[in-house]
Amino acid sequence: MAEKTRGRKTFTLEIITPEKVVVDEEVEAVVMPASGGYLGILANHAPIVGGLEIGVIKYIQEGKAHWVACNMGVFEMSGNRLRVLADTAERGEDIDVIRAQQARDRALRRLQEKKADLDYLRAELALKRALARLKAAGKAGESAS
Ligand code: ATP
Repeated sequence: MAEKTRGRKTFTLEIITPEKVVVDEEVEAVVMPASGGYLGILANHAPIVGGLEIGVIKYIQEGKAHWVACNMGVFEMSGNRLRVLADTAERGEDIDVIRAQQARDRALRRLQEKKADLDYLRAELALKRALARLKAAGKAGESAS
């Protein structure tokens, strides 16, 4: 059994939010925004746990790249299974681009206006989420209008 596991070229990627299972697939590689920077995972990676930042998780399945926008969370790799638990996550193709552009522009406006009651961290996190969604949807450079 151990021999079989060691020789594998793929591993299971699960991306789970409190709402649903967003991804549950056999994949060849994952690159994700871990707390210490982007982290690459291949099959048979040593056990590891860590924090997840707002960003884009990229995974390769049958040679094809896929992108998932993710919110903060945690991950655990063990026994050829990478489990990512995130507050929110959306596959690139499921992202409402107009909504993300509006969220980005709203956050930018708030950060630029710098009103006295501005919750800076909240606006910054909203901006990061919106930019990650636009990146995952392949629309990072486009404006809302
Ligand atoms: P908004 O201001 O547009 O609501 P938000 O960043 O505050 O954005 P979240 O609180 O992170 O939104 O997410 C709330 C729910 O809406 C989650 O289920 C998330 O997956 C979903 N969601 C948020 N933005 C989008 C989007 N652009 N496309 C698809 N789903 C989205």
